[in-house]
Amino acid sequence: MKIVLSPDPTLRQVCSPADPTDKGLKHLASQMGKTMYKNNGCGLAAPQVGVLKRIIVIDCNAEEDKKHLEVLLNPVIVAHSDETVECDEGCLSVPGVAFPITRWAWVTVEALDLDGQEIVYEKADGLLGRCLQHEIDHLDGITMFERLDPFTRMGAIREYQEALARGAKPGDTSVPE
Ligand SMILES: [Zn+2]
Repeated sequence: MKIVLSPDPTLRQVCSPADPTDKGLKHLASQMGKTMYKNNGCGLAAPQVGVLKRIIVIDCNAEEDKKHLEVLLNPVIVAHSDETVECDEGCLSVPGVAFPITRWAWVTVEALDLDGQEIVYEKADGLLGRCLQHEIDHLDGITMFERLDPFTRMGAIREYQEALARGAKPGDTSVPE
């Protein structure tokens, strides 16, 4: 699948709920997984491949031989830490750059799997917690740029435009998605 790049307006839409009885979702999720791995991401949200449904795929296992794709339908943050952490973040839809983004230190996320069973990520922190927050943002039409203060955002947009002009492609950042 082709990755939608910022500032495509698709990335600013609020996605509709995914219906777990929709038989097409398994195929979509597997295509999303392939696209994510091919571009060296650790997470991908459906709007990043042009589908406006609340579906994300993640794999935050750093080791290549332990690939395990997780599919979340309709993920919701139901609890989060008081404290926040700032860390450099990249995005397959914003190639060639990484920006310091402030996120909750941990989040508890509820979602459905492809069989419609409830799954819970209890106090997910580190890369997993950050990835979940980043991908769930995509479902609400929020990209990294919206997470930056207006002044920082102007510089970030300029930096991104320069990266695009250099020919940056999805996955062109050492920072995980
Ligand atoms: Zn992203």
